[in-house]
Amino acid sequence: MSLLVVGSVAYDGITTPHGKCDRVLGGAGTYVSLSASFFTEVSLVGVVGEDFAPEDEAVLQEHNIDLRGLERAPGKTFYWAGEYSQNMNERTTHVTDLNVFEHFDPKVPEFYRDAPYLFLANIHPTLQRNVYRQISGPRFVGGDTMNFWIEGTLSELRETIKDWDFILINDGEARQLSGEYNLRRAAKAIQQMGPTTVVIKRGEFGAVLFRPEGYFVAPGFLLESVFDPTGAGDCFAGGFMGYLTEQGVTDLGQATPPQLRKAMIYGSVLGSFCCQQFGVGQLREIDRADIEERFEEFRRFTEF
Ligand code: AMP
Repeated sequence: MSLLVVGSVAYDGITTPHGKCDRVLGGAGTYVSLSASFFTEVSLVGVVGEDFAPEDEAVLQEHNIDLRGLERAPGKTFYWAGEYSQNMNERTTHVTDLNVFEHFDPKVPEFYRDAPYLFLANIHPTLQRNVYRQISGPRFVGGDTMNFWIEGTLSELRETIKDWDFILINDGEARQLSGEYNLRRAAKAIQQMGPTTVVIKRGEFGAVLFRPEGYFVAPGFLLESVFDPTGAGDCFAGGFMGYLTEQGVTDLGQATPPQLRKAMIYGSVLGSFCCQQFGVGQLREIDRADIEERFEEFRRFTEF
């Protein structure tokens, strides 16, 4: 099985109470692809600029991510800079420079067009939709978005998510998108927009899966120190979608309850690893055995 991911590939500038770094490899497409690559083959569609360094490309290649759909365009790579509050629960975005993404017209290579699994990671909703339309009858499609697009491109976003089987979104963004404060009500409102499965990510408090037949709450892993939460939500998405792809699940309505619950826990596991170092640092150090070990730890601390 193979997963096609579309999303931002970026350079990030990050400030946390632990320190600061600039122009480190990031982007939603990068984080989703790296974390899903522990479970399945991944192909990444996106664009980088002339400044994209060979050593950053090598990080993706080390994880066997197929980069034939990663275009290199004249100009600079997408740049994002953000800063976390003292307790790391709030983030302020200082810069979003779309750069090469501004005029990106994704052309999904011919050999990806029958991809059965598609994840539309965070990027302009019209780009997400353009990619979706080039896939001949995607069997299973989900995606992510963020406040930047909810505020700036709401009608395009509403049009885009109509076709999705599932959406992963954080709690603040779910409230913003639905206009409902209560998360159960917010999930219900989003389900009516298209995706019948809604996963609401709640930062260090884990995530909740909403399906028409019920819901499931996955806790967050209690790390001793959270170094940098950037990309944690995307890593959750990569773990969730990567595991479902590995399992061959093409319809969430047909997935067994244990499959859905395990996908949520793998999402939490990958999200937690992501926070242990700046940028993609920790994702470069772990392997599937580390993931399984933490997955079992989740089982032990939630069983009763
Ligand atoms: P997360 O912490 O899961 O929200 O993801 C952070 C990543 O998303 C960073 O690596 C950024 O480069 C990327 N990002 C930030 N803003 C945007 C945006 N407006 N569109 C796409 N990707 C973004």
